[in-house]
Amino acid sequence: MASAHGEPRRALVTGGAGFVGSHLCERLLSEGYSVVCLDDLSTGSVSNVGPLLMEKGFELVQADVTSPLEVSGDMDEVYHLASPASPADFESRAIQILRAGSEGTRHALELARDTGARFLLASTSEVYGDPLVHPQHEEYLGNVDPVGIRGVYDEAKRYAEALTTAYSRRYGVHTRIARIFNTYGPLMRPDDGRMVPNFFGQVLAGEPLTVYGDGGQTRSIQYVDDLVEGLVRLMRSGEPRPVNLGNPEEHTVKEIAQMILDLCGGAGGLVYRPLPEGDPVRRCPDIGRARGSLGWAPRVPAREGLERTLLSLGQPGS
Ligand code: NAD
Ligand code: UDP
Repeated sequence: MASAHGEPRRALVTGGAGFVGSHLCERLLSEGYSVVCLDDLSTGSVSNVGPLLMEKGFELVQADVTSPLEVSGDMDEVYHLASPASPADFESRAIQILRAGSEGTRHALELARDTGARFLLASTSEVYGDPLVHPQHEEYLGNVDPVGIRGVYDEAKRYAEALTTAYSRRYGVHTRIARIFNTYGPLMRPDDGRMVPNFFGQVLAGEPLTVYGDGGQTRSIQYVDDLVEGLVRLMRSGEPRPVNLGNPEEHTVKEIAQMILDLCGGAGGLVYRPLPEGDPVRRCPDIGRARGSLGWAPRVPAREGLERTLLSLGQPGS
């Protein structure tokens, strides 16, 4: 794909060596983009982008978005994904999360402003907190405890959305905001601490799956290829408002655990652990805006996506 200056389009992906970012880098490269992947490798890894390092047009820059970004040359698109994302990190990486959402977002926006690039913020369903409206549509303002354990992540992303909108209003930067719901797939860090990698790690080790609380809380899990398609469509759309990207197929955590046990023929069963503070009771996206503005809807049902994830782990069943 060529830009106005006749060269291949050039995109910056902050957090590009992470789970979602590495899939996004691969997708953009496959469309002929040149891609700068900027990552401090704190929760991501070089191995996620290992195969991309051989490709012409791919560049990995190890840097922290909380410092001003030193990326030279033209830029057409900035995808800002850099931030720790696992609830398991909300205490240990609290300050990093707040800094990535605030200073990190400002630096990525400044780069977009300087180069005239479009800017997309990877925001989150966590801006809705423990929602009192179900399913969650974009007009819902949320139920967030700013001093709760999850507050560092939720408020960092809410601030990032406000800053992004301010750069659009004040400086005319073309901005997009994706509110991403729980996403899973190949290349999630095995010790990331989130539900899907935990469950696969446990079942493949022959251990019981750790269900938090009674497992009755719900999540709507989205396969990563569907998310990447949504991100790319959103970037290219004319939709400046926040857009939910998630799979409305809602399951209890216990049902998801059971699906993984069934897929793997796991005999270890379930073991119950305390529910973390502030763990949302229900979560499911209303994707009416994404359908209308982007012509997007997820295509991969949970069972199929979990099966693909299992295959990527190269374990029994592959
Ligand atoms: P991830 O941890 O795999 O990826 C995050 C990447 O950002 C990592 O490579 C990490 O090293 C990098 N990073 C963190 N802090 C940085 C910093 N200060 N400077 C430079 N790089 C930094 O997580 P992910 O699941 O791929 O999430 C990517 C983005 O999508 C995050 O912004 C996250 O908040 C958002 N998101 C993800 C989900 C999901 O379910 N995966 C849901 C909602 C939102
Ligand atoms: N969860 C669980 N066992 C685990 C990890 C997570 O039961 O080993 C639950 C967690 O309490 C939450 C859901 O699974 O209700 C999704 O958790 P995750 O950390 O993936 O993301 P969240 O949706 O909480 O941001």
